[in-house]
Amino acid sequence: MYRTHTCGELRKSDVGQTVTLAGWVDSYRDHGGGLFVDLRDRYGKTQVVFSSDSGEETQKLSRSLRNEDVIQIIGKVDPRPDGTVNPKLNTGEVEIKVEKLVILNKCKTPPFFPGQQDMPGEDLRLKHRYLDLRRQQMQQTMLLRSKIIKLMRDYFEQHEFIDVETPILGRSTPEGARDYLVPSRVHHGEFYALPQSPQLYKQILMMAGYDRYVQVARCFRDEDLRADRQPEFTQLDMEMAFCEMDDIIGIIDGLVTKVAKEVHGVDVTGPLPQMTYDEAMERFGHDAPDLRFGMEITDATDLAAEAEFRVFKAVADAGNRVRGICAKGAADKYSRRLIDDMTSMVQDDFGAKGLAWFKVEADGTLNSPIAKNFTPELLAKFKERFAAEAGDLILIVADKFEVTCKSLYGLRKKLGAELKLYDPKAMHFSWVVEFPMFDYDEEEGRWVAMHHPFTAPRPQDIELLDSDPGKCRALAYDLVINGSEAGGGTIRIHDNATQQKVFGLLGMTEEDAKERFGFLLDALQYGAPPHGGIALGIDRWVMLFGYLDNIRDCIAFPKTQRAADLMTEAPSAVDRKQLEELAIKVLRLDEVKK
Ligand code: ASP
Repeated sequence: MYRTHTCGELRKSDVGQTVTLAGWVDSYRDHGGGLFVDLRDRYGKTQVVFSSDSGEETQKLSRSLRNEDVIQIIGKVDPRPDGTVNPKLNTGEVEIKVEKLVILNKCKTPPFFPGQQDMPGEDLRLKHRYLDLRRQQMQQTMLLRSKIIKLMRDYFEQHEFIDVETPILGRSTPEGARDYLVPSRVHHGEFYALPQSPQLYKQILMMAGYDRYVQVARCFRDEDLRADRQPEFTQLDMEMAFCEMDDIIGIIDGLVTKVAKEVHGVDVTGPLPQMTYDEAMERFGHDAPDLRFGMEITDATDLAAEAEFRVFKAVADAGNRVRGICAKGAADKYSRRLIDDMTSMVQDDFGAKGLAWFKVEADGTLNSPIAKNFTPELLAKFKERFAAEAGDLILIVADKFEVTCKSLYGLRKKLGAELKLYDPKAMHFSWVVEFPMFDYDEEEGRWVAMHHPFTAPRPQDIELLDSDPGKCRALAYDLVINGSEAGGGTIRIHDNATQQKVFGLLGMTEEDAKERFGFLLDALQYGAPPHGGIALGIDRWVMLFGYLDNIRDCIAFPKTQRAADLMTEAPSAVDRKQLEELAIKVLRLDEVKK
């Protein structure tokens, strides 16, 4: 038997027992008379002591121990002498007097120690992930992840959902990203696509009568990675038949309540608040607003239209918008230089033409380089509109609606964090609903699906599919946690005609649609129930519930920003023979047609 107890288990009540422990040498201290080792496993640490009582041979062997060696010891549980109890350790009242030591595996000097205070660089951590995963923080995160997934599985099982696995080697399903392709050896020149999500399979399951489906599903999207995305990620994917939007939202509200309670002991009472997409864009400039704090966007386009100030007036006259936020008490926290930095941020990152600002002085007047362009009456109106008081800082962007949204969202996010407007441990859950069906892609000159092409329009908007697709709203809903999209889903189209029409609007000819989604269009004609679903981003849930900010810390073996696995060095070149079997020839970069 390698061990009778774990390294986190022994207490004062075990004193006198002979035990066997196994684990890693976390640290060692040679005190002349004896060697003290902290032995570690994922359950904790136990102090083990080698002294002359251990016998000469064992004591000698113990002197060769180094950090991260894997050892097994047999010894007697002793109370720690008075004054040496360590209240920080669960096992801090006892120590083991070692009688026998077995070195199971020596550790070379590692590139970093799991217990070291200063965190090693991320590339090093990813390359030696086995060392990194030994760190306490990583182990806690992996436990949290396992707990959240179990809570989800249990919850859906209680609600009669059936876990069905769907293929990894399949056909391209459009979530709007680039596919990862897998060449077929049997069908030369043909490819499988790794699933961007199980979307179409889960819809087919509804048509097959499985009524409530759930899966912890791996999804693959070959995108240039943003900070909080991974090419390979995990979703809690679900679908229900004979349901409306409220049924799905209700199920997820229940899940959120359960996870919040079990993970943080917090009571979240449903139903979670909902806001329409339009309202979210008006009030927060984003479809995943952070509702942990206020500082909402205020519109002042009507006031700008009255101004002599050319910049504002021109924007208002052109039908664009003048909007801003008021940061309470922030006037003296933001110097001219810091405001210049914010100006560069909105210009460089969001394409704004500029950033106007006003500081409210102690006497209530508005101070700004542009103040001279406004009458005192108009300045007073601005102040009132923003509910600004002495010491406040007003930031205004005058531009196209989308540019004001992006800029003010960015500024609100930055200022919210810098001014500490929320408790970093607080969690806020809400829904954004009624998304537009389509976005217009200027470059391609066509509509693209805002969620995916299987999303149903609101029944009252069906006519708009013909007359004004841009105005058509979808039966779509996103779950938002602390300003992050934590899940998204829709009610699906369940009739062939509407589905064909939407494909058409997305620029697909009938033949294209048939070629790519013939099976779906067929199934829609063989008894398709009304259905809908949602997918929750598990990696992101772990990040949010763990108060972490790096998605890679929530995944045991993640990819870098450049989609590489530094430990196994994937992707890698393959043998010529493998390529020949696949009838694939790799071109040099300069042979690739641009
Ligand atoms: N398949 C969708 C996604 O991955 C989720 C859904 O509509 O259920 O975003």
